[in-house]
Amino acid sequence: MNIAENIENIKLRMARAASQAGRKPEDVTLVAVTKTVDALCAKEVLNAGVTNLGENRVQVFLDKYEILGSEPNWHLIGHLQTNKVKYIVGKVELIHSVDSLHLAEEISKKAEAMNLCQKILVQFNISGEESKSGAGADEAKKLFEELSRLGGIHICGLMTMAPLGAPEAETRQIFSGLRKLSEAIAKEGFDNVSMEHLSMGMSGDFEAAIREGATLVRIGNALFK
Ligand SMILES: *Cc1c(COP(=O)(O)O)cnc(C)c1O
Repeated sequence: MNIAENIENIKLRMARAASQAGRKPEDVTLVAVTKTVDALCAKEVLNAGVTNLGENRVQVFLDKYEILGSEPNWHLIGHLQTNKVKYIVGKVELIHSVDSLHLAEEISKKAEAMNLCQKILVQFNISGEESKSGAGADEAKKLFEELSRLGGIHICGLMTMAPLGAPEAETRQIFSGLRKLSEAIAKEGFDNVSMEHLSMGMSGDFEAAIREGATLVRIGNALFK
């Protein structure tokens, strides 16, 4: 496994996908997902010039944080339980996986107690069918209206995952659905909400995600093979 070489290769493919979509390569950031590798490998990723690292489990993040500290920009990308919020607020740059008002309230509470601002994304699981009809947008707006009232957090965009092995047409629909949802929310002009990020795309589908507007791609496997 040659991590530096894999990173070079992925960055080239990212830049090509961005150019093809008429976007600037520097508008898409690689988040290297280190959940399957140890801190030593994560360090290699940093040495290769990638500063954003993603972890999906709080304990695995904390183990690496103990070794690598706050040098990386850490991203929490996996499901987060409210009782674990206290371990990560202020330590991670961005929480991608906020999927309920309740979870956002807990993050808000902890961040306010620590007198800091925690950046978050709101995760949506949209299906291809839903994105076609635009269903769910009204409900999403209601959620953002409530989120916009919370202190201690800043909502900087949306995150989604396409189902593993879904046909490309469906994957693209999901990604474009998330982009349309973010455009609809941006139009509302909620306080404390800026739709600057779309976190979408993994090893198998990041090029499609970039074509649909991804600003953060979360890539694991393709870096560590
Ligand atoms: C593991 C994981 C990734 C990376 O997936 P790969 O297929 O290894 O690139 C991205 N996002 C989330 C939420 C993950 O858990």
